[in-house]
Amino acid sequence: MSPDAEHCLPSLMPIARRPETFFVRGEGAWLFDREGRRYLDWVQGWAVNCLGHAPAAIADALAGQARTLINPGPAFYNLPSLQLAERLTRHSVFDHVFFASSGAEANEGAIKLARKWGRRHKDGAYEIIGFHNAFHGRTLATMAASGKPGWDTLFAPPVPGFAKATYNDLASVEALIGPATVGIMLEPVQGEAGVIPATPEFLRGLRALCDRHDLLLIFDEVQTGCGRTGELFAYQASGVEPDIMTLGKGLGGGVPLSALLAREAVSCFEPGDQGGTYCGNPLVCAAGLAVIDTLTADGFLAATRERGRELADGLHRLSAELGLGEVRGSGLLLALELGADLGSAVVEAARDSGLLLNSPRPHCLRLMPALNTAAEEIGIGLSLLRGAIIAARQHAEPRQ
Ligand SMILES: *Cc1c(COP(=O)(O)O)cnc(C)c1O
Repeated sequence: MSPDAEHCLPSLMPIARRPETFFVRGEGAWLFDREGRRYLDWVQGWAVNCLGHAPAAIADALAGQARTLINPGPAFYNLPSLQLAERLTRHSVFDHVFFASSGAEANEGAIKLARKWGRRHKDGAYEIIGFHNAFHGRTLATMAASGKPGWDTLFAPPVPGFAKATYNDLASVEALIGPATVGIMLEPVQGEAGVIPATPEFLRGLRALCDRHDLLLIFDEVQTGCGRTGELFAYQASGVEPDIMTLGKGLGGGVPLSALLAREAVSCFEPGDQGGTYCGNPLVCAAGLAVIDTLTADGFLAATRERGRELADGLHRLSAELGLGEVRGSGLLLALELGADLGSAVVEAARDSGLLLNSPRPHCLRLMPALNTAAEEIGIGLSLLRGAIIAARQHAEPRQ
């Protein structure tokens, strides 16, 4: 790090432990540090850069829009937000879209919409059943909706109105349903929990419970949406249609853009209920438009699914060769169980050799390459990953 950057460090709140490595440029699947070393990036800003680093489609959209109209304010219509809302409703089962800037903000909107619907149609029901180990964001309400261990006391008192069931256990959900219940909220694949997919039977069971008890089914697709799991939206692979869905991360391809989508029957916000200074600004919506048009172009997601199969196959081979654990996930949201708490050691060894990885849990890795990564890059990453796991194990052995 340069003396300049070193000098500036104490000015930042220390909210994360960061490596010394300092990135100055990105290109597709690759990041470059100050020394000009390149790293294959399988984190991509936590599944945010679905088209890789600095893609021409997004750079051109942003540059063109920046020269045309950045933000007239949320009290006026603008063309990119209208076009993006039309695309999202055309390609999904939803009728209405509200744009925001982060996944947490979109989920806050989903919670508000469900509470408003409950007040109007269900005797003031407001409670949302969520799941242990779920992740929905870092605002106070989305922290309460999340099931991250320790989060109920971190900034106590927590926002009331959230119950917690066990993921993939339908009986545990049913047991929590009462007169105050308004909906069920979940990630179709629990991302931060270590890429834990909901089973199709579980999702079908939730839909049936919601239909029987007149509850809203809310899918948080902030991580799974926008092509990450190989479909445009993960719910499409399950055949289960939620009433409300949220998007974030990949939707802006790297710029802050999220969305709350609802079916017309539950879309009950009235003017004044919901909003925000940056909501639906044309600059980020132009980026979102470039993302959705790229993802829905002929052959794009088919290629993503193919890369996903290649990566999953490679992980299975690695697991068999090195005696590791399960490979989970679909598309380019995959996890590898390491069989021991080697996650951070593998992440460090991989970084030293030029591969960026994420370990959401101490015993597993999460792989989130750019959706348009090349087959060759999957091969390069797998071979770097193999070396990193072997190095981390050798390092760990003397201490065991
Ligand atoms: C990342 C994430 C969020 C939070 O998104 P932010 O943009 O960080 O607020 C919410 N839900 C899921 C499933 C996520 O993966």
